[in-house]
Amino acid sequence: MDCLFCRIAAGAVPVPALYQDEQVYAFLDIAPQAPVHFLVIPKLHVQSLAHTAREHTALLGHMLAVAAELAAREGLLDGFRTVINSGEDGGQTIDHLHLHVLGGRPMGWPPG
Ligand code: 5GP
Ligand code: ZN
Repeated sequence: MDCLFCRIAAGAVPVPALYQDEQVYAFLDIAPQAPVHFLVIPKLHVQSLAHTAREHTALLGHMLAVAAELAAREGLLDGFRTVINSGEDGGQTIDHLHLHVLGGRPMGWPPG
């Protein structure tokens, strides 16, 4: 397994889980861009959002629902930002689909 996030989701790299179930694994980002910054990833290896299809609809919905649940649990009651970077122009650096959740301060727009 040469995918870092597959290894994290499998427990082969010890990254504490904020949450996990059969489908997803959530953990704190190693380089947080906000006071709260965590990632929700599928346990299934999917390269990016651009590599998903209709068959992934339930999985994608589950990732969003888990993100919202964890955002509330982490105290992001004033709101939060969700981000999925896809491909080179999207700024994706890890080629395993991941949903960022950022909050704990006003996130502003445009992002920066
Ligand atoms: P991307 O730029 O691909 O959307 O986001 C990848 C994210 O993964 C980055 O925010 C980066 O800080 C995070 N990341 C990269 N390597 C690790 C790691 O080994 N552990 C954790 N917890 N996060 C990582
Ligand atoms: Zn992977």
